[in-house]
Amino acid sequence: MKILLTGAAGYIGSHVLKQLLETGAHEICVVDNLYSGKLEALQCLEKIAKFDFIKLDIANTAELEKLMVARRFDAVIHFAAFIEVAESVAKPLKYYLNNTANTANLVKIAIESGVKYFIFSSTAATYGEPESGVVSEESPQMPINPYGASKLMSERIIKDACAASKAKAGANGMKYGILRYFNVAGADGEIGQNYPNATHLIKVVCECICGARESVSVFGSDYESRDGTCERDYIHVCDLASAHLAVLEYLSSHESDVFNVGYGKDFSVREVIECAKKVSGVDFKVLDAPRRAGDPAVLISNASKIRKLTSWQPRYQSLELIISSALAWEKKCRNLS
Ligand code: UDP
Repeated sequence: MKILLTGAAGYIGSHVLKQLLETGAHEICVVDNLYSGKLEALQCLEKIAKFDFIKLDIANTAELEKLMVARRFDAVIHFAAFIEVAESVAKPLKYYLNNTANTANLVKIAIESGVKYFIFSSTAATYGEPESGVVSEESPQMPINPYGASKLMSERIIKDACAASKAKAGANGMKYGILRYFNVAGADGEIGQNYPNATHLIKVVCECICGARESVSVFGSDYESRDGTCERDYIHVCDLASAHLAVLEYLSSHESDVFNVGYGKDFSVREVIECAKKVSGVDFKVLDAPRRAGDPAVLISNASKIRKLTSWQPRYQSLELIISSALAWEKKCRNLS
């Protein structure tokens, strides 16, 4: 297949790129503006197999269109997006323009240039503050922050555009696979999360263990949850990456669909911190802090659908493994042993 990956110099995209290259089965082109993605990640993956890299912002629709019309990709896997909840509250338009408006343009060009499969990185943040904390793909989507809203609007655009494309072109219309990611962390060893001022809990904890931060703040201890701190469903990035390959394969013989990608198991902020202390043997400083804007109390996947319908088989389902791999990567980046 000829596959275009947007944002594949970034954390999740680079792990998917690696697994796609390892299959040896695809002709791959990456576009990334290197805003948060790293050229080093792409360079590291070049040794697996050749692929094209074009430094391009997807807001540059003229160049994107030229590329996609010339190359006639079979599939697009669209990662390029901003991802920080708190920033999205402070700068909503940054999120609506890059995450939503740019996705609409990309979808338009994809359909016009004959793309058959469109895989989209969506998020559990589209569910908002679910009543029971556990969400299936059919649960109501009522995001409580602009990040989640920007992705939900993109989902709607993709669904509507694919339905119209199918109505017009039948079997040649574009299909979508929407993946709603839960809390992604960990690293595969060669590549990992690598941008400054990261805000995600496991990354922050690893920086603390490495001495790059003085303390970890617990944002809110008065939530309605097991221990008063927020509960999340943490998934290893390598398992999240393989879900993309499984969904792409699924689409070749099935209709468009939406999949939660998580393990269906939750850990509180304090449980993550305790696990990180145990895994590392480092007793770092933990401070209580006020709630962070836009955080739901509990968000856990019911992820039975992807396991039932696709060939996806998670292999790293352990918080210890997620944290130890994230920590090993953090140390590697900092030249620590
Ligand atoms: N969190 C925290 N301290 C931090 C970073 C995150 O207490 O330094 C909490 C955050 O409030 C949320 C959970 O950890 O309840 C997971 O946050 P993260 O940013 O990792 O992912 P999100 O769920 O926002 O996508």
